[in-house]
Amino acid sequence: MIQRETPAPDNRHRRTEGPVRTCIGCRKRELAVDLLRVVAVSNGNGEWAVTVDPAGNLPRRGAWLHPDDRCLQAAIRRRAFTRALRVTGSPDPTAVVEYLSSAPAHEGQVAKNMSTP
Ligand SMILES: [Zn+2]
Repeated sequence: MIQRETPAPDNRHRRTEGPVRTCIGCRKRELAVDLLRVVAVSNGNGEWAVTVDPAGNLPRRGAWLHPDDRCLQAAIRRRAFTRALRVTGSPDPTAVVEYLSSAPAHEGQVAKNMSTP
């Protein structure tokens, strides 16, 4: 009797390869490559701002967020940045808001035309 090392037919799980993180907005677990990494930067006055770390290499404590305005707003509402980034007060999320609004999103560009006269 020969025992071969036959790999299990487990191809359904291929998409879950890679590190998984939790979105601080909707709390769903997601592949890190599909999430946006944000970090806190000090402005020198004891206040903090949230900035996007697209390369994922800033040597700071990061948090993960879907590149989705709804998740961003949810994170702001529940002060998730404060807890996830271990900062005091509410960090200024303007940079993330601008990043999301300027990102070449597949959807959303059509919706934005509603405000143009
Ligand atoms: Zn999310």
